[in-house]
Amino acid sequence: MTSLPPQLHSSLTEPLDLAPSVSRPEKIGRNDRCWCGSEKKFKHCHYGREQMKPFNMQEVYNLHDKEMQRRYCSHANATGQPCGGKIVKAHTIQKNGGLVAIARDGHVYFQSSTRPNLERKAGELVPRLVGIGTASAFPGFCAKHDRELFKPIEGKDCTIGPAEALLFSYRSICLESYYKQALLAVSDCFFRFDEGAPVKNQVKVQNLAHNIRRGALWAVVTTLSQKRDFQERLETQDFVGFSYSWTRFDDLLPIVCSGAFLPDNDLTGKLLQRIPYGKQTFESVTLNITSFARQSIIVFGWIGESDGPAARFVRSFDGLDDQIKAAVAIRLALEYLANSYISPDWWETLTEPFKLSLISENSAQGRGQRPQSISLALGQPIASVTASVIAKGGQAVATI
Ligand SMILES: [Zn+2]
Ligand SMILES: [Zn+2]
Repeated sequence: MTSLPPQLHSSLTEPLDLAPSVSRPEKIGRNDRCWCGSEKKFKHCHYGREQMKPFNMQEVYNLHDKEMQRRYCSHANATGQPCGGKIVKAHTIQKNGGLVAIARDGHVYFQSSTRPNLERKAGELVPRLVGIGTASAFPGFCAKHDRELFKPIEGKDCTIGPAEALLFSYRSICLESYYKQALLAVSDCFFRFDEGAPVKNQVKVQNLAHNIRRGALWAVVTTLSQKRDFQERLETQDFVGFSYSWTRFDDLLPIVCSGAFLPDNDLTGKLLQRIPYGKQTFESVTLNITSFARQSIIVFGWIGESDGPAARFVRSFDGLDDQIKAAVAIRLALEYLANSYISPDWWETLTEPFKLSLISENSAQGRGQRPQSISLALGQPIASVTASVIAKGGQAVATI
């Protein structure tokens, strides 16, 4: 067997990673295991399901809202013991730097919450105004850790070195991990979407549900493991294997964000990894856009192969013409991250078709592959954005 050159992610050649499929046999006894994989007896599971009342989507939204209220400190210690501190609504974007700088009367536009919330608005993707007290906040840190851990990136200004970049990345991945755990809890509902549906549709629904759950479980396992990788380096202040890249502008960008995404294509449209193909771990990149002293700064951070998908993605950003970087950063935040906030003064000057072109239904919740055309479109200029790059830096620390 010939091995692949190291720069190729194996998802480029391996088959789609699907859950084993289920099918409904012709005959099934009431006391047999149900065909759907639930481990329940047929009589307690799919027997007579077609006669049930159709599943009410409101249950999904209610459960999701409940999950998003879960309070715990993400900064569990090395032994995995939960932190006993008082849980607070922790901002993932500095309130006093990043959010205040783009707010109007203490409000910013929030492009989307999470998918279930989007669907509650019946497909309406219109951003809504939110107060900066709640924008980007989640009950995922205790007061002590929220205050102490992130102090180096919360001040009036900040020089980005590996320690600061790592703090940005860590906070982003803690939030992603929190989101993904909520989605995993909700994913169980999908197995009930066939209530009241004809028998012939039930198999399709169950197979879809198995794959949704597989993706949701995968996302939890992956984000938790990334969180551990960042946390370990945070505690030891040994940055081996952690890479980052930052870009500072002479002015404010009309957006702030914090989150992580799976780079699928680079900014020249080159395929990096195919999601969700193959068995290899996908690389992710954390992205933070915030500001210090009224100058926006973009920080990418990742742990990955020296020539892997994450490194190649960020290199494709760093390799762009400086003139286009502000526009690309804005499109990237809106296209790839849910936790993005927009300046009302800027947003309200845009035309409706242009707003629609910026707001995406794809923002990084799923395990899907974006078409190459979306990655290429990220590189289009935005006329009203003229901030120029004044400084950049970063370091790809030794390979892992
Ligand atoms: Zn069943
Ligand atoms: Zn804590």
